[in-house]
Amino acid sequence: MYTYPDIQLFINGEWRNAINGETIAVSDPATDEIIGKIAHATKPDLDLALAAADEGFKVWRDTSPYDRSKIMRRAADILRERKDYIAWIMTREQGKPLAQSSMEVVGAADTIDWFAEEARRTYGQVIPSRATGVSQLAIKLPVGPVAAFTPWNFPINQIVRKLSAALSTGCSIIVKAPEETPASPAELIRAFADAGVPAGVINLVYGVPAEISEYLIPHPVIRKISFTGSTPIGKHLAALAGKHMKRATMELGGHAPVMIFDDADIEKAIAVTSLSKYRNAGQVCVSPTRFLVQESVADRFLEGFVEAAKAVKVGNGLESDVTMGPLANERRIPAIEALINDAVSHGAELKTGGNRIGNRGNFFEPTVLANVPTHAKIMNDEPFGPVAIINKFSKFEDAVTEANRLPFGLASYAFTGSAKTAHDLGRQVEAGMLTINHNGLALPEVPFGGIKDSGYGTEGGSEATQAYLETRFISQMS
Ligand code: NAD
Repeated sequence: MYTYPDIQLFINGEWRNAINGETIAVSDPATDEIIGKIAHATKPDLDLALAAADEGFKVWRDTSPYDRSKIMRRAADILRERKDYIAWIMTREQGKPLAQSSMEVVGAADTIDWFAEEARRTYGQVIPSRATGVSQLAIKLPVGPVAAFTPWNFPINQIVRKLSAALSTGCSIIVKAPEETPASPAELIRAFADAGVPAGVINLVYGVPAEISEYLIPHPVIRKISFTGSTPIGKHLAALAGKHMKRATMELGGHAPVMIFDDADIEKAIAVTSLSKYRNAGQVCVSPTRFLVQESVADRFLEGFVEAAKAVKVGNGLESDVTMGPLANERRIPAIEALINDAVSHGAELKTGGNRIGNRGNFFEPTVLANVPTHAKIMNDEPFGPVAIINKFSKFEDAVTEANRLPFGLASYAFTGSAKTAHDLGRQVEAGMLTINHNGLALPEVPFGGIKDSGYGTEGGSEATQAYLETRFISQMS
């Protein structure tokens, strides 16, 4: 029906090959087929992107918020019109089921609309002065050209939050999009270009991630960094940003606790958490991973969850009844196998799954491990795959102690019928996000971000634009 495209760089309003003509192959994680190629940027291409972003910033910061907002909303509509094609290429390059790809495209359009509205609300302050005849203003101005680095698990969603926040505040941007899943991000950028974003305001590059970040972050044109990916890489990039006094937003790894208390609706807890566990094959930074279930309901929860895991239909995401696609990268298979084997060797019980499926494509069984000891590697390292760890706890304090044991603090989940338990969790669980009795994370209008080793800054809610704005103070005597 559709054809997977070859992808070029987008610099200064033009789609172009890399100056040295190099390309990188793109493969389909469901079939291992090579399906396309992308232009591979090196320093001369990055220099063009930097010059374009510098000029683009001057144009865009002087475009009124009203006009920026109109162009952004047009881009959202274009994305909706092209949803079917973009979802198809996303499934081909990333593997997730078509319905999940479609949701990601539609969700991105919603995010753009929300930030387009926020563009008109970058309010400053008038501060009462001590002296008559003096007016004191705090105004908000765009920080400048942004460098954004995004991963392959949500090829569009990871970019759209950074891109929309940057555009809404008047910043230009260079996006280093994921090389594994490059075509759907290119379509996102095309929607903005077709909507009328001026040349140079958005630039898109692919290449060797470390080479690009080492070049862009220290570069004087770049004023702000935003990264989504693993904690070790995030710490490295945050240190580089700090060294060059650049503002940074870091959305890093997690290892989300799910606390299920004996007064909860257990059937609902099983339905909600099994759906979110196996969404995108568990390759989600907020994926529920460490299930902590109160003793008296633990067997019932485990049995129901294992049944739900067995009911997941694994296959090529283009097939209509498939609910879980392949892992996006082959390298994740040995990584996940090693975590499972290590857990079992430490005494964990493998309740279902645990193996690769076939030898074509990166398919992996939905997996449940129970009674996993704390010192097993998987209790400490983010699994980033379709693996649920289900352990028991006895008292509220034990659940909270385990939830807070790791240096991560991104998402957390809880199920309880008690208002007091819910209230206490909200204050005691060390996580940037807590969702109780449902899955309510990641809407554009609510905060999205971590604390501790999961990073800093929020990519959603009314604070999200602040990361792209500088406060300037003006004191004026008449
Ligand atoms: P990885 O650490 O090699 O890469 C993670 C992401 O960072 C990739 O998109 C990669 O291109 C990028 N990256 C790596 N080095 C970089 C550098 N020096 N400069 C700029 N970007 C760089 O891991 P991976 O095998 O791709 O993914 C596995 C791990 O990454 C997971 O265990 C998970 O913790 C993390 N991850 C997190 C998210 C998220 O949504 N927070 C998304 C994808 C991956």
